[in-house]
Amino acid sequence: MKILVINSGSSSIKYQLFDTRKPYPLCRGIVERIGTRKSLLTHQKLDKRPLVNNVYAPDHYQAIRHIYDIITNPNLGAIRSLSQIAGIGHRVVHGAEIFTQPTIITNEVFNVIKKFSELAPLHNPPAVLGIDACRKFSKEIPQIAVFDTAFHQTMPQKAYTYGIPYRFYKKYSLRRYGFHGTSHMYVAVKAAKRLKKPLESLKVITCHLGNGCSITAVKHGKSIDTSMGFTPLEGVMMGTRCGDIDAAAVLYLMEKEHLSIKEADDLLNKKSGLLGLSGVSNDMRDVNKKALSGDKRAALAIEVFIYRIIKYIGAYIAAMDGVDAIVLTAGIGENFTPLHQKLKNALKNTLKKFSARILVIPTNEELMIARQAAHVLKNAPFLKAK
Ligand code: ADP
Repeated sequence: MKILVINSGSSSIKYQLFDTRKPYPLCRGIVERIGTRKSLLTHQKLDKRPLVNNVYAPDHYQAIRHIYDIITNPNLGAIRSLSQIAGIGHRVVHGAEIFTQPTIITNEVFNVIKKFSELAPLHNPPAVLGIDACRKFSKEIPQIAVFDTAFHQTMPQKAYTYGIPYRFYKKYSLRRYGFHGTSHMYVAVKAAKRLKKPLESLKVITCHLGNGCSITAVKHGKSIDTSMGFTPLEGVMMGTRCGDIDAAAVLYLMEKEHLSIKEADDLLNKKSGLLGLSGVSNDMRDVNKKALSGDKRAALAIEVFIYRIIKYIGAYIAAMDGVDAIVLTAGIGENFTPLHQKLKNALKNTLKKFSARILVIPTNEELMIARQAAHVLKNAPFLKAK
């Protein structure tokens, strides 16, 4: 089954076209700098070198048109016509409490996703544009929304409830949602395969450590707690996000520095984390280089980053009363070897006690979205399989 996966951000749209029998895409690419005069389309067909072209993409609609053109191009594309695509899987960050599963996008579903823009103002609006464009130019192809929050909807109430007056949960749906769900689920499934045991029998802690970082306790195949919260700011420290902080410290800073809500938001989301602490970069490679050259603040930033991960792992071992595997994934999780070594040392006794392993497993959110979209289509009897 051929599935096109669309990940639509504010100024870029990434795409991958899968034949779901294969784990790699037939072609993939990105339209970047949408809305500027310098839009770029980078496209790569399986086993070929990537091609970069200037394109006219003043908006997401035009960007989707370029994607449709190139994937059906006789030389560069991977299909003859769009009619060969069985479905389009869209990455949608926020599904709130409504969407616990990947869902076929009807008019009603589309309007609800639009409504959740309030909960994810940076992420849901561009996803809505991507979906709208696909619906406009290929309304005959079923569209499926795959939500970052869905995997975490199994969290018990005690894990997702904040200690503030309950009426705010009722009034604003203010609670922990968690993100990166597609990635956590993908690597948890892979971990079970590596351990040759059913996921339903395992306690796994998945650490997605990329630009954004989150850690999830996956007990018997279900997310029972996760470090990101109402927004992707909570939890471990990240490239530019502070992670957990005393809420009163934020109020104090706002008062002392005369910060507006927007300025405080920028400070915590865009100027903190590895970047803010090290003063060097949000990229772990740069921070590490600087630390190795003797820079104390860069070294401290890495120490804080790793220590917070260790604390979350400890908390989730307690929450699950045990652990079988700790999975490291995404850019930092997969590649930053000092982290692997430090975790092994810091958790030596714990790993021994539970006979647990640390596994490094590359994530593949696009493949997971394609598979989930295909699964939804196969189980939708009114749609003809292609
Ligand atoms: P995103 O969340 O945007 O998908 P990635 O998963 O690509 O991000 O992760 C980006 C992070 O991974 C950056 O901090 C980058 O420095 C880090 N990273 C990538 N390769 C390495 C490496 N070899 N060593 C250390 N960090 C790395």
